[in-house]
Amino acid sequence: MLKVEHLTKMFGGLAAVNDVSVEFEAGKINAIIGPNGAGKSTFFNLISGLHQPTSGRILLDGEDVTRMPCDQVARLGVGRTFQTTNLFEQATVLDNLIVGHRLRTKSGLWDVLINSQRLQREEKAARDKAMEALDFVGLTNVAGKFIADITQEERKRVAFALALATDPKIVLLDEPAAGINPEETEGFATLMRKMVDNGLTVCLIEHKMDMIMSLADKIMVLDHGEKIAEGTAEEVRNNPVVIEAYLGG
Ligand code: ADP
Ligand code: MG
Repeated sequence: MLKVEHLTKMFGGLAAVNDVSVEFEAGKINAIIGPNGAGKSTFFNLISGLHQPTSGRILLDGEDVTRMPCDQVARLGVGRTFQTTNLFEQATVLDNLIVGHRLRTKSGLWDVLINSQRLQREEKAARDKAMEALDFVGLTNVAGKFIADITQEERKRVAFALALATDPKIVLLDEPAAGINPEETEGFATLMRKMVDNGLTVCLIEHKMDMIMSLADKIMVLDHGEKIAEGTAEEVRNNPVVIEAYLGG
């Protein structure tokens, strides 16, 4: 599904992602863990086309997407959430999704503003797609509410819906359960299983170890930009290199 070969991203002299090769299988829950600053979010930024890699290749279903802009990558089936999602507070949940969908699949704000005629035709499709995504994440009941009036947990679900509204094959979730309580976290685990049951491939960055260990089919561990381990929860948990990376800070 997703194959990454010798991926490197330099920020000045810092290798945020350093020669990482990994394969994520279709229909699985793949997790990326590692200490703060390990390069996890940067890895997602490279895959989703937000950043250009310094070197290496990214293949999506065999297709080379390495230097494609993010709107094109989104159209090819990569959906994502961000560590912090900027939502329009004084707009409804539904409108946030419709606008988010446009911004993710068109080349930019200019395109959104200038092509209003074409967009009108697309309006209904975008609206239907948005409602479908809201239904999937269990937010139909708040579709008409302003973002400012929904809970933290609902905001996180909106982020999921945003990632789903572009009809992805693979979704990259950057700490989707950060800042929510344990009972609610279980709800997010259920949601991710439901995504996989619906044929999606999930790739998630998460700090909540309990969640990762019970949820992930495969885990990749990053530290200082490098892949230091990969395997099942059991394999990773017992890997001395991983234990050292976490305990040694
Ligand atoms: P993680 O998500 O694992 O916490 P990040 O991918 O956000 O880590 O960051 C990895 C490293 O790259 C950090 O040292 C961070 O400061 C650096 N970094 C991330 N994004 C940028 C950027 N846009 N410009 C410069 N340095 C960056
Ligand atoms: Mg991060």
